Amino acid sequence: MKHLVLVLNCGSSSIKFAVINPSTGELSLSGLIQRIGSANANIRYKLGDQVTERELPDIDYQGSMGLITEIINTSRGITESLLAVGHRVVHGGEQFTTSAVIGEQVLREIRHCITLAPLHNPANITGIEEATAAFPNLPQIAVFDTAFHQTMPETAYIYPIPYELYQDHRIRRYGFHGTSHRFVSKAAATLLGKDLHHCAMVTAHLGNGCSTAAILNGKSMDTSMGLTPLEGLVMGTRSGDVDPGLYQYLAEHLDYTATDIATLLNKKSGMLGLSGIDSDLRPIETQAEKGDRRCKLALEIFCYRLAKYIASYLAPLGRLDALVFTGGIGENSRVIRKGTLQWLSALGFTVDQERNQTNGKHSNGIITTESSTIAMVVPTNEELMIAQDAAALVT
Ligand code: ADP
Repeated sequence: MKHLVLVLNCGSSSIKFAVINPSTGELSLSGLIQRIGSANANIRYKLGDQVTERELPDIDYQGSMGLITEIINTSRGITESLLAVGHRVVHGGEQFTTSAVIGEQVLREIRHCITLAPLHNPANITGIEEATAAFPNLPQIAVFDTAFHQTMPETAYIYPIPYELYQDHRIRRYGFHGTSHRFVSKAAATLLGKDLHHCAMVTAHLGNGCSTAAILNGKSMDTSMGLTPLEGLVMGTRSGDVDPGLYQYLAEHLDYTATDIATLLNKKSGMLGLSGIDSDLRPIETQAEKGDRRCKLALEIFCYRLAKYIASYLAPLGRLDALVFTGGIGENSRVIRKGTLQWLSALGFTVDQERNQTNGKHSNGIITTESSTIAMVVPTNEELMIAQDAAALVT
């Protein structure tokens, strides 16, 4: 019986792949090819219980997809059970409000969105083309990071700049991480025994990229990322919100070009720029504990700015039933969760130290017990959401 979905997340130099049973979440295969095109490219994958790791010097994209196809085709029981291929696509512009079966028209529209995501959509398209060639008989499904946020009202997505820039060039706020926000909001409602369609939630996806979403009755009403994934919260290497006047200052007084500014704000800022040591939260937490002033400051700014976003969502939501932490940081960092909730006592949050310490495990994810508002930890699973969308679209 065909019941498995191949999920592909194709980045510019990496391909994350998984074969998932969308009904159970069971993984038959999962893996990652990294640093494609470089001398130290490698693959690591888990097939059943067996983990394999291999160097793949100078492998190209086509070769990488060929290798994934070979692994699938030589693994007993997978090929004949595949139902569809689900692709993570970063930008779906205004065209895509839900996931879509890929045909020529859909592919054309994904291409059309390249101007909005020049680093991501081209890799996603290459992945779709290669997967179509490798599995010509399987339906290919696109699941967009932006689609979930297409329910935002104009009030939330229009920038206060000349309206013609929206009308003529579609410059507006789109938001990202939609698949994760959608997955954890559903999972949180289930864990709480509530109907998602009668819930007011804030979800905080905190990984290398970070974003919040205000979700009312299952629909995204606002989110912190905008036209690009640079807007909003402090991230690993991204600044999040800064004064737009900073661009002119850097250009006129420090001779920065547009490219220099983009590199500064995307690659050298955030936790890396603040701490001066790393973009990864773990060493920053360790150094802060040892008393490093800049690492402490980085953590404080991260929590303060996150708390301000969460509090601001009372405007679109009107009330708050639950705050959900997810992503590598949200799921693992008790320091960040506690530091953020400390700013939010006015919203009724009191952290349960013990539950926060254990990341809310064994308690439906809830890390507040004395509190009038619930905060919880819910692990994200974007691959499963993509597999479920793909299965729903083809059956
Ligand atoms: P991506 O956005 O690339 O998917 P992840 O969701 O895996 O990233 O999140 C990566 C972040 O999670 C890193 O900053 C990492 O330091 C942080 N992280 C992972 N495990 C822990 C932990 N045990 N404690 C604190 N931070 C953690």
